Amino acid sequence: MSIKMQYQSAGSQGQHLTASGQSKCTAAVEQEKQQIAGEQVKCPVCGHRFFDKEDKASGFILHKCSICKNIWRIDLAALSFMNIKRSRNA
Ligand SMILES: [Zn+2]
Repeated sequence: MSIKMQYQSAGSQGQHLTASGQSKCTAAVEQEKQQIAGEQVKCPVCGHRFFDKEDKASGFILHKCSICKNIWRIDLAALSFMNIKRSRNA
């Protein structure tokens, strides 16, 4: 009986601590965001802004431009674009 009670109390308290701590964490993250150097990544065809890349980001992502409908394979480290599929309407 005592074991069951301890388990329930620990579980509920743990969840409350996590939930209440999130507001503080979010504020801290917002401050950090302003210190991170970013670079705008734009569509090479129409100039539509895709997203901001953090300087240390690397790897490859696929992104479809919502304006010109081109699909790009983007090398984040080199910021090079490869058109992997072209819309019929473009
Ligand atoms: Zn585009």
